[in-house]
Amino acid sequence: MMTFDGVVYGPVHSRRLGLSLGINLLPTENKVCSFECIYCECGFTKKGVAAKFPSLQKVEEEMTNCFRSLHAEGKHLDVITFAGNGEPTLYPHFEEVIDLTIRLRDQFHPNSKISVLTNATRLANESVVRALKKVDNNILKIDSAIDSTAKLIDVPVDSHYSVERVIEQMAQFNGEFILQTMFLRGVVEGNKIDNTTKEEVEAWYEAVKKMSPKEIMIYSIDRETPYKELEKVSHEELERIAVPLRELGFDVQTV
Ligand code: SF4
Repeated sequence: MMTFDGVVYGPVHSRRLGLSLGINLLPTENKVCSFECIYCECGFTKKGVAAKFPSLQKVEEEMTNCFRSLHAEGKHLDVITFAGNGEPTLYPHFEEVIDLTIRLRDQFHPNSKISVLTNATRLANESVVRALKKVDNNILKIDSAIDSTAKLIDVPVDSHYSVERVIEQMAQFNGEFILQTMFLRGVVEGNKIDNTTKEEVEAWYEAVKKMSPKEIMIYSIDRETPYKELEKVSHEELERIAVPLRELGFDVQTV
């Protein structure tokens, strides 16, 4: 499982992204998320472990020091990615941090892109939506367009979670976002889960057409997951899922 020991992690070289710096706004001692996805690389949320968000001052200090020293070393970041130990938009000063990141990026690494990976559960919050509109890569996920399956895969903390509502909320971005979907199969606690069936994929196509994202990233399990019974969907199958959308003109990446 992935572990984090501070606000900034990396940078790491990625063939696809170049030099990539990760930002974790979440506590390090426990995951904080509005989901408990069955495939989460951070593992399960630990019961009874108190967790504290880093202060805005700590975030500002760590980010400023890191951006400045990478610049001084002549290293130029290609991408700055908000992900980490849970859901980044839950951070109480999320918009302020995005504004800070834009300032630091413009000063030290003007060619880098800012990406946020979010589970899209905070789209009713105006400040979060404003912040997401400011970044280069606003990456929003839904893992199924069918409520019952989305709940089995993503295990939302809020029992009123509705994927239909999230799909409607995505209209706020006028297509200026990247949709991310994880395809997988498995049996978890007696429930058969498969978001690659004909019914699932067709419902997902309809949702994609409604949301009209500028780009779509579909992928499958790549690292260790908290449930061991999950099955990876092959790259060939992801490619097959992508075809009808590509024919409609959507930019679909299979990773
Ligand atoms: S949304 Fe992301 S961080 Fe949260 S449980 Fe799912 S995979 Fe883990």
